Amino acid sequence: AAGIVVAGSGQAGFQLAASLREGGFRDPITLVGDETALPYQRPPLSKAYLAGKTDAEGLFLRQPGFFAEHAIAHRPGLRAVAIDRAGRRLQLSDGQSLAYDHLVLATGARNRPLPVPGADFPNVRQLRGLDDADALRASLDAARSIVVIGAGFIGLEFAAVAAARGLSVTVVEAADRPMARAVSPEIGQFFRTAHEEWGVRFAFGAGVTAITGREGRATGIVLADGRELPADVILIGIGVLPNRELAAEAGLPAEDGVRVDAFLATPDPAISAIGDCARFPSPFARGLSPDGTVRIESVQNAIDQGRCLAARLNGKPAAYGALPWFWSDQGPHKLQIAGLSGPGDPSVVRGSGAAFSVFRFRDGSLSAVESVDRAADHMIARRMLAAGTPLTPEQAADPVFDLKALAM
Ligand code: FAD
Repeated sequence: AAGIVVAGSGQAGFQLAASLREGGFRDPITLVGDETALPYQRPPLSKAYLAGKTDAEGLFLRQPGFFAEHAIAHRPGLRAVAIDRAGRRLQLSDGQSLAYDHLVLATGARNRPLPVPGADFPNVRQLRGLDDADALRASLDAARSIVVIGAGFIGLEFAAVAAARGLSVTVVEAADRPMARAVSPEIGQFFRTAHEEWGVRFAFGAGVTAITGREGRATGIVLADGRELPADVILIGIGVLPNRELAAEAGLPAEDGVRVDAFLATPDPAISAIGDCARFPSPFARGLSPDGTVRIESVQNAIDQGRCLAARLNGKPAAYGALPWFWSDQGPHKLQIAGLSGPGDPSVVRGSGAAFSVFRFRDGSLSAVESVDRAADHMIARRMLAAGTPLTPEQAADPVFDLKALAM
């Protein structure tokens, strides 16, 4: 048998391969990845790894021996360039091709480019892979002033690390608050204040019109209102685009992500998609998009989709319905999110001061819980959201109401 070929050896592709073997899959498994490193986890790249608190070894999902032991052929440094659906072959960047019985697209996402002049200066950086993190870490050694474009998770995690090193940091954001697409105004406000206490400056409602430079290096940015901010390192963190081109060029539906059904299958029964690149129907996305589909960029989603698809390919199909959850570490604070909120979902705050949770509601039901340094709330929220336990806003707001008892 030709077995299973996986395009992309990141979090999702790796998990699929490992779970296939765990579930007893016997045919060949080939993991094709365009990066050169062993499969690794990305979250520390903007946290402990960037801060120099862990080395590359600490990022690897498994040691090198794992792949041979489990007969998983890891082919690093190779790009999948085209799918021959009729012939069931995946064309590779080295001119060869691989036959498959089933092809899994786990190509992840790439950074969204900032379309302004000067964005290609070498000290204008992005952060997605280990190479990016190494370059960024090295450039911090000589840096004094940093501009971060985009107050999303990665931009803010980076800002916290840079500020802790004593660098001058300004975060520029088009929206009027941090993490505006992902969290409530209350959480945004908390992190804004925290970052300001660490010395980070913010410019909200600010569009970037150009990156200026001299002698081949960026020296600062220009805002739409004419203001200029000097910088010796600029990080662009304005979100990602799904790597959907392989699917789209093979004639598969792939607007804003490779379209899959509840079983993570594309319309071609021999091709599935998982992780950051996949757009799928989710029971937790009701009311968030016209067709109830989402694309989720998280470790949880990559792992759970890898497991779900592995089970199907091992003969135990089940619809994907795992609860989305996520975390972000900024300075000493841990933000944990369970569920999926929409920007208009009303908030109810539980707790106060430095440790609190924001309960979000949509159409009267709990949609998400965002916790700052309240790990117990997060675990309870995961249980309630997964089980669909009814909770009213009044109960959530009542500090003596026993959430834990309700969730049991
Ligand atoms: P990826 O891990 O991106 O893997 C896809 C792989 O496919 C990549 O190696 C890519 O180079 C490769 N590839 C793409 N196209 C091809 C091709 N044509 N041929 C061969 N290979 C190809 N999530 C959290 O839940 N919590 C966090 O705190 C968090 N922090 C993060 C911090 C950073 C800096 C980054 C970048 C991400 C973070 N994430 C976090 C998100 C999380 O890492 C991703 O959601 C997860 O890695 C998605 O897994 P994936 O396998 O779908 O994609």
